[in-house]
Amino acid sequence: MKLQKFIITTLLSVSIIGTGIPANVSASSYAVTKHTYTLKINKKKQKKKAVGASYNGKSIKTKAPGYMTGNTQMLSAYYVFKKGMGVSYSYSKKTWKVTLKRGSKKIVMKRGSKYAYVNGKKTKMPTPARMVYSYNQKKDAIYVPGSFCAKHLGLSYSWNSSSYTEAFKSSTSSKAPANQNTSAATTTTTGKTSYVQLAKPSGLSSSNISSTDDYHNYRLILNIKGNYKSFYEKSSNHKVVNDSSFKSYSVSYSGGYTKIYIKPRSKTIKGFRVTQTNSYIRVYYASPKSMYKQIIVLDAGHGGKDTGATNKSYVEKNMTLNIVKAAKKYFDKDPSIKVYYTRLSDTYPSLADRSALANNVGADRFYSVHINSAGSSATGTETLYNSKGYKSTSGLTSYKWSSTIHPYIRSATGFKNRGLVDRTGLYVLRHTKTASTLTEIGFISNNKEAKSMKANYSKYGKAVYNSTKASLNKNPAKR
Ligand SMILES: [Zn+2]
Repeated sequence: MKLQKFIITTLLSVSIIGTGIPANVSASSYAVTKHTYTLKINKKKQKKKAVGASYNGKSIKTKAPGYMTGNTQMLSAYYVFKKGMGVSYSYSKKTWKVTLKRGSKKIVMKRGSKYAYVNGKKTKMPTPARMVYSYNQKKDAIYVPGSFCAKHLGLSYSWNSSSYTEAFKSSTSSKAPANQNTSAATTTTTGKTSYVQLAKPSGLSSSNISSTDDYHNYRLILNIKGNYKSFYEKSSNHKVVNDSSFKSYSVSYSGGYTKIYIKPRSKTIKGFRVTQTNSYIRVYYASPKSMYKQIIVLDAGHGGKDTGATNKSYVEKNMTLNIVKAAKKYFDKDPSIKVYYTRLSDTYPSLADRSALANNVGADRFYSVHINSAGSSATGTETLYNSKGYKSTSGLTSYKWSSTIHPYIRSATGFKNRGLVDRTGLYVLRHTKTASTLTEIGFISNNKEAKSMKANYSKYGKAVYNSTKASLNKNPAKR
């Protein structure tokens, strides 16, 4: 009975519905005012914030505003797709089938089913089509996942998290941004480049804007000199383009700086590129591998609760950190190499965290810095690799990587040459899925070597940088 009522109200709704939502007000205008309404979705009564929609830049008028389910925008098949964008739409109350057609493209969904048929091909949906009851309007409506349907109907789409609106376009053509550095053009599943665009207030010069890749928190931080907090909180001054799954955008001000936090996903590291014109700032993002030509993970051994080896006042975790920080000074001056550091302070990432960082960003090399320990007479520099670890497909084995870096470190220390050592049991050399090396700079247990190491962090840092550069020159990463 409800179904019958739905068919009638959906098709005739324009003049029938009265309660709660004024007629002919666009959904996005609800969203701006943070309009919430009560729906019955999958038998559960829930309060939802209205999701708007636009088509070719114009707001779509709807009496059944959309809502979010997880990261999916659910939109009215009738108002948004049929009325708003001219898509042919039908619903069968007998079979529960929802059909959308646009040109030669056809999607057949079934209420409650996770699978759709796209031109006859079974395709998994992010969330099923639903019949949803609105308490405000006292009626049912069919909702479909907006991005999924748009994609398979040949429409382009992007999600603007600040206006809470999904923007559709009939044209699917788009230009990749001009590459301003070494990175490749980046795309998402929509085949489009994702970015956050921010307006630039007049008088704000480019030199007052810098950025920090806060990858441990999965975000980019824009640092802007001056207080622009209210400017950048204003929804008309920032938008997300070509990304319906964008996670969060926030702004803070303290100590003379405005900070804008751009976090595309909750737990995925993205590569970033910031470009500017006189009128706007754009923050492009995509997987690190598609953004950077060469990626290194540099690991300072031990840290936090794990001191590593010690001898009197010499502590391994501090020495490895100092060497890595010294190397960072060199890497910071070289934009051709993207470096992710497992730690830059006295923290303890687990061994699994260290390998995972390299694996998650798709690193081309993993480089771990340690200090050796044995009896007080043991001396020398040695470099460890695992012959049974990562299997190279590019020709760059862990052995090759280790044999390139070793002479640089050895000549920086001037210690005895202990050469390369095959170690198959070390966690980071077993679990890191890229060419991996672990260099033992010298012996902390030997007073003379410990003293010398403490005095030469900068020299070793330079050797870490130079050895990496030499290996990348010999075996450039292939993308
Ligand atoms: Zn160690």
